Amino acid sequence: NSMKPLINSLSNQKNPNSIILTTFNDFSNWARLSSLWPLLYGTSCCFIEFASLIGSRFDFDRYGLVPRSSPRQADLIITAGTVTMKMAPSLVRLYEQMPEPKYVIAMGACTITGGMFSTDSYSTVRGVDKLIPVDIYLPGCPPKPEAIIDAIIKLRKKVAQETYKDNSKFQQGKRYFTLNHK
Ligand code: SF4
Repeated sequence: NSMKPLINSLSNQKNPNSIILTTFNDFSNWARLSSLWPLLYGTSCCFIEFASLIGSRFDFDRYGLVPRSSPRQADLIITAGTVTMKMAPSLVRLYEQMPEPKYVIAMGACTITGGMFSTDSYSTVRGVDKLIPVDIYLPGCPPKPEAIIDAIIKLRKKVAQETYKDNSKFQQGKRYFTLNHK
């Protein structure tokens, strides 16, 4: 992938005065994928699995993930749990307050399709991608911490392939809040 030449160059340095050549895209992508900062966003039981990642057993800080409480300091949101209609405007506002480029992982059946609430519920959003654009879908009820790490690795691979032009794809002032599936 695109960051391998850069990492190999760094790790094979024998002369500290040597020069590393790379592209702006590769360097930018390498920096971003190495420091994805997720917004703390948990609405129900899926978040318990997400929270376990923060502890020493899974230690997801080693991937450069530092949980943030402010959307202005986050470039990743992992929607962990059921999203209700009442919560929908708040989720969209949080997403819009995150700086570009930003990413979304939809975690768990409830977030992806409405889960057990996908048929008769009047109060649950049946798919968070009706509100905000999703980069990675992570199925399960709930997904295990190892599965969350796998989703993070997939997202890092996606970021590694991006170009600077891709990063501005959502800067068109588009709103995603369209709850018309009732
Ligand atoms: Fe809870 Fe399962 Fe829904 Fe996750 S997918 S919020 S674990 S019911």
